[in-house]
Amino acid sequence: CGIVGYVGPQPAVEVVVHGLRRLEYRGYDSAGVAVVAEGRLRMAKKAGKLANLEKELAEHPMPADGVGVGHTRWATHGAPNDVNAHPHLDGAERVAVVHNGIIENYVSLRAELEADGVVMRSETDTEVVGHLLGRAVAAGAPLDDAMRAVCARLEGTFTLVAVDSQDETAVVAARRNSPLVVGVGEGENFVASDVAAFIEHTREAVELGQDQVVRITADTVEVTGFDGQPAPVRPFHVDWDLSA
Ligand code: GLU
Repeated sequence: CGIVGYVGPQPAVEVVVHGLRRLEYRGYDSAGVAVVAEGRLRMAKKAGKLANLEKELAEHPMPADGVGVGHTRWATHGAPNDVNAHPHLDGAERVAVVHNGIIENYVSLRAELEADGVVMRSETDTEVVGHLLGRAVAAGAPLDDAMRAVCARLEGTFTLVAVDSQDETAVVAARRNSPLVVGVGEGENFVASDVAAFIEHTREAVELGQDQVVRITADTVEVTGFDGQPAPVRPFHVDWDLSA
């Protein structure tokens, strides 16, 4: 339902949770975050209010550095519980992905992965994306190449945001029929389902077109089509005020 990703010098987990707070008005049943720092992927996810996730993070603090992604879920496939909450991982726990929308062909993708020995952890449509991305990066693809290849196989509506524990410098996102905006800061960049998630940090934004992938680092924003062709960047300025 709500998505935030962050690359920059501020503590990623704090920026991401704060961004999720700004998206709470949309409604949700669970929340989660993943951070890549010090060469490791860490994840926390909880059914219920963001306060449950914050309590978990207070008890098991995450590193203050690194890159992060966060999600508030409005369940469509699978009960609202801790396991079905996002992020979802691949089998090797190298890649974490969050998703808004519905992967319409997840049943056949799931069957294909299971036939290949993949063990599913959740009941969600989203989990297949974690495994497909994990397999592509394990085969040597950079995360953005992996995202383009996987998206080309997906049917349905999706905003996807992913991190790779082997790349602490980037967050990769994609969209089809579901919103995704990039917040362009100074020495930091954001991706989100809604500008409300980053408007306190920057009002410079880039809107992604249909079937596009973006790779952000602290100081670069690269947009391509699912076919890998560079796409024109469409900047805009957010000039409305955030009402209380
Ligand atoms: N279809 C996904 C799920 O049920 C994503 C739902 C959402 O957009 O929050 O987990």
